[in-house]
Amino acid sequence: MKRILITGGAGFLGSHLCERLLEEGNEVLCLDNFFTGSKNNVMHLLRNASFELIRHDIINPFFIEVDQIYNMACPASPVHYQYNPIKTIKTNVMGTINTLGMAKRLRVKILLASTSEVYGNPDVNPQSEDYWGRVNPIGVRSCYDEGKRAAECLMMDYHRQNNVTVKIVRIFNTYGPRMALNDGRVVSNFIVQALRGKDLTVYGDGSQTRAFCYVDDMTDGIVRMMASPDDFLGPVNLGNPEEFSILELAETIIRMTGSKSKISFNPLPQDDPTQRKPDITLAGKMLEWEPKVGLEEGLEKTIAYFRKVL
Ligand code: NAD
Ligand code: UDP
Repeated sequence: MKRILITGGAGFLGSHLCERLLEEGNEVLCLDNFFTGSKNNVMHLLRNASFELIRHDIINPFFIEVDQIYNMACPASPVHYQYNPIKTIKTNVMGTINTLGMAKRLRVKILLASTSEVYGNPDVNPQSEDYWGRVNPIGVRSCYDEGKRAAECLMMDYHRQNNVTVKIVRIFNTYGPRMALNDGRVVSNFIVQALRGKDLTVYGDGSQTRAFCYVDDMTDGIVRMMASPDDFLGPVNLGNPEEFSILELAETIIRMTGSKSKISFNPLPQDDPTQRKPDITLAGKMLEWEPKVGLEEGLEKTIAYFRKVL
């Protein structure tokens, strides 16, 4: 049994991670500023004596004693991370420095939730970890893309300079129950629109691709990475390599919800990547991990969740 800190623990991925680590018998400290996360996501855990919820913003230093750190804090939806881009890059840089400082002081392992966005608008498909990416350093997504690249840099420098045991996972589009209704990412947008009988807002012509991973698979991959040998730092891709166009996703969700909604085509946001698909060979080899939940099975559970919430 360990005392584990999860920054961003009241968010979508963080709350699933809190649940999983509690189930394994650990004590979990969930730290969040509730920007995109919510107490509702962890309300059911508050009765558990091994669970603690702390309101704090990671851009400010904090001092607690733990055995392990998952640094998940950062808005992940383009709508939210572009709302206050300066805050986004501060969270990634100052927040990562503060959590790394804690890992250094306590001599404990720290995992960073990085992202497929470090590959930018990639000119290779699928993306493997040795691809350095094609990121616009001055675009509207760079607060997030470059923020996470700086966070990865900090992880490696704290490792090289201060011997901190670091772990980097590059998370590809993940979806599932507890995404916020107003999250703004494509899966939750389309499901909520379909259930409300509104048009599904496809950006561009919908030919851009993404590969969607169900949250339980992702949580499992993240926990396996933390448990891997100390000399495996990553970065390691985690995601489901099944690639779909956004138009295909919209049609699938309309069919599965039995909705009468139509599809409306809207302007494509600036720097929106045209393709994205993880090469997960490394995760297979080092973590014996691969996703088990296919798109329709995962969508079924997610649709059921949103039906209940709505
Ligand atoms: P989310 O927005 O639901 O969760 C992020 C959480 O971090 C929220 O609870 C938010 O309130 C909290 N937070 C944000 N800034 C903070 C700050 N300065 N101090 C303290 N807490 C703060 O997003 P998510 O999908 O759960 O993503 C979690 C992590 O995984 C993020 O770091 C994100 O970049 C990364 N990630 C997610 C995906 C995905 O598809 N879900 C893909 C790539 C990377
Ligand atoms: N998208 C869309 N309609 C929406 C939301 C998103 O067509 O209502 C598109 C978006 O332009 C992108 C893809 O879906 O091409 C995935 O977007 P998301 O915001 O989920 O994540 P991203 O992978 O871009 O970070």
